Amino acid sequence: MAINNQYLQSVYNGLAARNAHEPEFLQAVYEVFESLVPVVEKRPEIEKNGVMERIVEPERIVNFRVSWVDDAGKVQVNRGWRIQFNSAIGPYKGGLRLHPSVNQSIIKFLGFEQIFKNSLTGLPMGGGKGGSDFDPKGKSDNEIMRFCQSFMTELYRHIGPDTDVPAGDIGTGAREIGYMFGQYKRLRNEFTGVLTGKSLVSGGSLARTEATGYGVCYFMDEMLKAAGKSFEGKAVVISGSGNVAIYANQKATQLGAKVVAMSDSNGFIYDPAGIDFKVIKEIKEVKRARIKTYLDYVPTASYTEDKDGSKGIWGVKCDIALPCATQNELDGASAQKLVDNGVIAVAEGANMPSTPEAVETFHKNGVLFGPAKAANAGGVATSGLEMSQNSARLSWSFDQVDETLHGIMKNIYANAAAAAKEYGMEGNLVAGANIAGFTKVCDAMLWQGVAY
Ligand code: NDP
Repeated sequence: MAINNQYLQSVYNGLAARNAHEPEFLQAVYEVFESLVPVVEKRPEIEKNGVMERIVEPERIVNFRVSWVDDAGKVQVNRGWRIQFNSAIGPYKGGLRLHPSVNQSIIKFLGFEQIFKNSLTGLPMGGGKGGSDFDPKGKSDNEIMRFCQSFMTELYRHIGPDTDVPAGDIGTGAREIGYMFGQYKRLRNEFTGVLTGKSLVSGGSLARTEATGYGVCYFMDEMLKAAGKSFEGKAVVISGSGNVAIYANQKATQLGAKVVAMSDSNGFIYDPAGIDFKVIKEIKEVKRARIKTYLDYVPTASYTEDKDGSKGIWGVKCDIALPCATQNELDGASAQKLVDNGVIAVAEGANMPSTPEAVETFHKNGVLFGPAKAANAGGVATSGLEMSQNSARLSWSFDQVDETLHGIMKNIYANAAAAAKEYGMEGNLVAGANIAGFTKVCDAMLWQGVAY
């Protein structure tokens, strides 16, 4: 692999040498650098001002111990991170991931992507990300609370409504945000919008829960419309069954499609009649159970245990695929299966779910492809709207938030499509999203001088 620009390649080589043990982070940087070749060629001030060297180094990495006591009275120790990547266009903003796979590479890749995603929303938010290798699965409510309180007991020093505003991500939902918010308030003696994804009773925004899933479908709808197509009558496969997947199901169904398969890390369900969003919501949000219990509610559906690293779902025939679980869940072979089965469009609900080989397969086969930075930006955009409501001490109606979100997703599509066209890569939304997201951050960095 080579990047077709000497400056970008040399910055990447230096980064790869210094971060050889961070493959996910390097993967994310490589993709952005490949897209930015024509921009760097057109704008020599980028190299002159060391913008690329600076943008790949986080402004700050906070790495800390999180000790907590489990229900058996045993002390447990996890690792916590907050990576404040880039504040050129606003306070750091990005979620907190709680999953045993979390390490510095994963938080860095997510934080790096967040810079460009947040810029694409058009709202004033910088890029950050955090989390822990804590596994919330199988823990009692009290254990979750003790972990979250301990996590916030360090994190509170580094965040604030005008500094850094974390949100949810994998493993961090309304329950975890609530425990963290309570601890922050106690430590600071301040009731502020320091976290988003809050409950409605404590300054949360209507439609934030739905926002990422809805946003992915709004983005997909724009891609389809531009190609003279629509959701109507299409079979959709959605990987995952968490926050993003659930509401992607609801919106795709509302737009006339049928969601035929969904998954978790153990396997996938198939329901040719269309997976009932309300059942999935009940299973995941109320019961906190596994997806295979769908069969208790809908016995005509089928469940297949996944022996293929959660990739079995990509063998299900569909017109539209929405990967909404985790990074690198859709590889080249899975992409080929989707293409062979006639997929026409893919939009990423999860962050970096498609490997570079998968993206190449989609592009080569003329599949419409919406990259995560653009397609799943609806979540953070609505978090930005939650921040605005908190600052103004106001609450908007569901429809007001939803309409604003819809407008933002339309703009993101239009801006990414226009940037791709401007730089001679029409239809390549990966390049378009990277260029459009980068341009604003780069201009702000240049304007502010060598501040970092
Ligand atoms: P949730 O924790 O609500 O759900 C995650 C889903 O993905 C679960 O079904 C989970 O299955 C599955 N999953 C997680 N890790 C793996 C794995 N290693 N292999 C297979 N399946 C896995 O998370 P969200 O829905 O919030 O997030 C999903 C993705 O969307 C993530 O990439 C996240 O970064 C991204 N995202 C989320 C946003 C949001 O607003 N929530 C905003 C933008 C992006 P299991 O239960 O078996 O672990």
